[in-house]
Amino acid sequence: MSIVNFNDILPSARAEKRAVGAFNIANYETAKAVVMAAEAENAPVIIQVYQRLMEDRFIASLGAMMRDMAERSSVPVAVHLDHGVSLEQVKLAIDCGFTSVMLDGSQLPFEENVELTRKAAEYAHEFGVTIEGEIGHVPLNGTEGAENIPLSTPDEARQFALATGVDALAVSVGTAHGYYAKAPEISVDRAREINAVVDIPLVLHGGSDTPMDKVREVIRNGFAKVNVATEFQHAFQLKLQNDINALNGKFLPLDKIMIQPTAAAAEHLRKLIRFFSDIA
Ligand SMILES: [Zn+2]
Repeated sequence: MSIVNFNDILPSARAEKRAVGAFNIANYETAKAVVMAAEAENAPVIIQVYQRLMEDRFIASLGAMMRDMAERSSVPVAVHLDHGVSLEQVKLAIDCGFTSVMLDGSQLPFEENVELTRKAAEYAHEFGVTIEGEIGHVPLNGTEGAENIPLSTPDEARQFALATGVDALAVSVGTAHGYYAKAPEISVDRAREINAVVDIPLVLHGGSDTPMDKVREVIRNGFAKVNVATEFQHAFQLKLQNDINALNGKFLPLDKIMIQPTAAAAEHLRKLIRFFSDIA
């Protein structure tokens, strides 16, 4: 049994200047791809779900499946809610057996973000669940905010970490979510400055399609969790599309159709996990 929370895997990663991959899964196959890849690389991993899936009336079934996969895995696996928007979602995730949650109040005024995140942290910690907070919004590519990304300041990061009691902190160093229209400008200096004044592991959101040399540098500066969704889900999608086209309408049971896309996603994930865990 190797289901864990963030405190079992992130502080040690931070100390060793490596990162744990956190991958957004959407179903059985993508969850399996993540666990298979982590086992093949003998590395800890985080399976996480988009907050919108919390609105699905069968979310408890997905949560139970993720937990079961984590428990059966030969490597440490955390089950995490990504970008939770409310205390209700945090509570629901904990009810569903998640070992970690994120409360993203980054679009609220600073004081309100602190207040909401502090409440969520208190609640989560009562259940032995770890929590991630966010300051400095990481925007979605293609939206207005992605044009000029404001960076988190070391001061606000320090204050926020101390006032809320979160176990991990997402800060903005210039990344955005999804594919980029032009290469992002990642501030390694800002990562270094924040890491110097914050004692907890930092989190890089928007890890897809981001220049890998910069990712490596921020990992060396306290970013012990790197989120990737778009890139590996797209690897799955493209293989699925290719295989379905090749079938040309001929029937094949769905479990068999899913084998190769799952393997393609796992292959992609293995490369990322290897890169993140390569000790500097
Ligand atoms: Zn994110």
